[in-house]
Amino acid sequence: MKDRPYQVVITDCDHGSIEEEKEVISQIGAELILAQVRNEEELIRTCKEADGLINQYALLNRKVLENLPQCKVIARYGVGVDSVDLKAATDLGIMVANVPDYCIEEVASHAVALILTLARKTALFDRQVKSGQWDFRMGIPIGRLRGKMLGLIGSGKIGLGVAKMIAPFGVKVMAYDPFLKENPEGIQLKDFETVLKESDFISIHCPLNDSTRHLIGEREFSKMGKKPLLINTSRGPIIDEEALIKALKGGQISGAGLDVLEKEPPDVSNPLLKMENVILSPHVGFYSVESISELKRRTAQNVADVLMGRWPASVVNQEVRGKTRMPLSGSFSSSKE
Ligand code: NAD
Repeated sequence: MKDRPYQVVITDCDHGSIEEEKEVISQIGAELILAQVRNEEELIRTCKEADGLINQYALLNRKVLENLPQCKVIARYGVGVDSVDLKAATDLGIMVANVPDYCIEEVASHAVALILTLARKTALFDRQVKSGQWDFRMGIPIGRLRGKMLGLIGSGKIGLGVAKMIAPFGVKVMAYDPFLKENPEGIQLKDFETVLKESDFISIHCPLNDSTRHLIGEREFSKMGKKPLLINTSRGPIIDEEALIKALKGGQISGAGLDVLEKEPPDVSNPLLKMENVILSPHVGFYSVESISELKRRTAQNVADVLMGRWPASVVNQEVRGKTRMPLSGSFSSSKE
């Protein structure tokens, strides 16, 4: 029998308000505390009574977790859970949950925005008109969108979103995704070389890992037969940036739209910052007012679910099954990026 209301602590967060978290946590009659602490001792002191944690950046290492005897669940804002020692959490029976899909529409629409901006050269025209030039010939040639081929590298949740959003423009879509067995809706799966060779636009939507780091390098640029526009809203290091700069200078590709870079923020000396046919955004693909509100609500819901004895929507440390501190009912679903 529990002799006090559950306590949920937000270790730290950089969101302006915690209204969504408050609303969800109050529905289960639990107390919510915003700690804003990052160091080990403070974390242990502030969270020692906590039944659940909501976490953004504060490092929840083994020592911290071993000193949180009541903690049954840690919910991380967003997809990545680098801030949590997963092995320690599992050993201690603490569930770790995340929200892997709060910004699919945002990233997909950002990728489409980058494609359209580059293809119609709107950013270039904007700069020219504001600098006193009024001459459409500054941006020619511009091709028609209909009939062009978009090649996706990775066709999971976001890739599929891009394919659906761009379809009404008459753009055809193919994808390279070695882990998919069947063609996703409306997309032809092709081998890597075909996507490189036959795409007018290439958009990257695979995760960053050991096998995708520098997936697009000098060799791949040399295979890009149609001088495509290259879009990256996934992770910077998937493209070898030195090779990208060479390919842009050498005309192997027509332009690039990048929401992510190898080094964020970039050095002021990064040549990409000066190129007319490159458009950049500061790793903002995930963001909208609605996506952040959804993220906050669903993160808090993961904690509320566990404290109410239910499996949360997305469990990161699957191995915790069978040894959770809190007995749980309902269906189990795992998460991976
Ligand atoms: P997802 O897991 O649904 O899809 C990823 C796809 O990539 C999968 O179908 C997988 O089979 C495929 N893949 C894996 N390795 C591959 C390889 N070597 N070559 C080609 N395909 C490969 O993930 P998602 O939700 O679509 O997210 C995709 C990526 O978007 C994330 O990994 C993340 O890096 C990035 N992202 C960026 C932002 C942002 O703010 N810019 C926000 C969220 C996610």
